[in-house]
Amino acid sequence: MDLISAMLPTPIQRLSNFITESAGVELYMKRDDLIHPTVSGNKWRKLKYNLLEAQTQGYHRIITFGGAFSNHLYATAAAGKVLGFETVGIVRGEELSEKLSPTLTFCKEQGMQLHFVSRSEYRLRNSDDYLQEIAATFGQPFIIPEGGTSALALKGVAEMVPEVNLQLNRAPGYFAVAAGTGGTAAGLLSAGANVLAFSALKGGEFLKQDINNLLNDYHSPGRLQLLTDYHFGGYAKWNQELIEFMNGVQQEFGIRLEQVYTAKMVFGLFDLINKGHFQKGTTIVAVHTGGLQGLLNA
Ligand SMILES: *Cc1c(COP(=O)(O)O)cnc(C)c1O
Repeated sequence: MDLISAMLPTPIQRLSNFITESAGVELYMKRDDLIHPTVSGNKWRKLKYNLLEAQTQGYHRIITFGGAFSNHLYATAAAGKVLGFETVGIVRGEELSEKLSPTLTFCKEQGMQLHFVSRSEYRLRNSDDYLQEIAATFGQPFIIPEGGTSALALKGVAEMVPEVNLQLNRAPGYFAVAAGTGGTAAGLLSAGANVLAFSALKGGEFLKQDINNLLNDYHSPGRLQLLTDYHFGGYAKWNQELIEFMNGVQQEFGIRLEQVYTAKMVFGLFDLINKGHFQKGTTIVAVHTGGLQGLLNA
């Protein structure tokens, strides 16, 4: 989608230090954080075919779902503005309308119409009846699910795999990625990659089933390793150790991570490498899924 001129292919950067060297592991960072200034990382890849489909079908309005800190709402609002779609965001939590988060303030500035709903209503976000009701209320818009995660999203994410294979001249042993809805992990799996998915949420075991559902069970489940112990207390929770790790990564490699997703994934990955989880000679590509607008000012 040069619709919103992206930097493609995004750079791939070698990360080497005493941990990777002593484990004999070749580690790379796929810099999807650089893909676009406001439609960053995996959200760009997940929106690409959704937005093209909306354009092809002649839709003028897009509706989607998210919370107060949703990088997906942020990306959708920004992309909608650039591409000339009206955007509506269904936001979890009625109380949020009184004091807008920085993310929601940005969405509003981009022209997104924010519609706040209770947590119980938000839970209906994937039910057919509810979506029909929403569609009727908002003039039959193009509907993109929470997190941008849909079959069309998988197709966009899948394009990263041949892109990386070409950059490395071979297929890496694993792609490592942070998981929220699991859509990005599913997209990589759909392209034949082996995937290490690090849950950013507590109790992330449900992701296995969600990912399999997204894939209609057509992939070999053996290619997914789901890591659920690096959530740091849950979604959007973190501690000082994680912040120090994040700052250390910036000093050592010049790469800024954020505390909600990518820092947890890279922390977990180095922990596994350090513990001897991977055979010598393994190549791993960690995906920087972006989200830096949510960066804590630490
Ligand atoms: C949304 C997001 C994720 C999670 O992606 P899913 O496809 O929902 O699993 C990971 N990293 C960042 C930076 C994100 O914004």
